[in-house]
Amino acid sequence: MFEGPLQDLIDEFSRLPGVGPKSAQRIAFYLLQTEPEDIDRLRAALAAVRDGVTFCRICNNVSREEVCRICADSGRDKATVCVVEDAKDIQVIERTGEYAGRYHVLGGALDPLANIGPKDLAIASLLQRIGGVQPDLEGEAIPEIAEVILATDPDTEGEATASYIARLLKDFPDLTVSRLASGMPLGGDLEFVDELTLSRALTGRLKL
Ligand SMILES: [Zn+2]
Repeated sequence: MFEGPLQDLIDEFSRLPGVGPKSAQRIAFYLLQTEPEDIDRLRAALAAVRDGVTFCRICNNVSREEVCRICADSGRDKATVCVVEDAKDIQVIERTGEYAGRYHVLGGALDPLANIGPKDLAIASLLQRIGGVQPDLEGEAIPEIAEVILATDPDTEGEATASYIARLLKDFPDLTVSRLASGMPLGGDLEFVDELTLSRALTGRLKL
């Protein structure tokens, strides 16, 4: 145990995910020796994450504006939506360079043991998005979304979530629904799948 502010800082870091007591101590001692302007930058970044981050009203991605950068990008294919559990999965798929559509972030996966049901996930807003129609040049209503790729994690909860959503999407007969191809390590987290495997899983996705 150290005295005063240093121990307070170590305690705070220890509460962060993935940071053990030793790392917390190492970071705190590191900060003790850093330049004041580095500390100011860190302080500003911490304040900004509380006040400056919102969720995209279209896809639920973490965003600075009301609409995230991906949804606002007119160069991206509006007809394809890739459904992921977390906003960090978007980064993983973006890194493959294989995907030019949009996303929908569920905010987790169905998990009865942890009491996470459909209402706790952004499923209703996904259905609304898919049901949304826009007029074409002749003024006829055309659905904006033609394909939904279910890219939930390849573990029990992710599979259950994908099949649950796939069942709901049967109500949209013109919609193509696909799931990332096999070859993904089972029981894993999308975050830890390497880019090549994920690329292949995307291009070889299976129609449901
Ligand atoms: Zn968005």
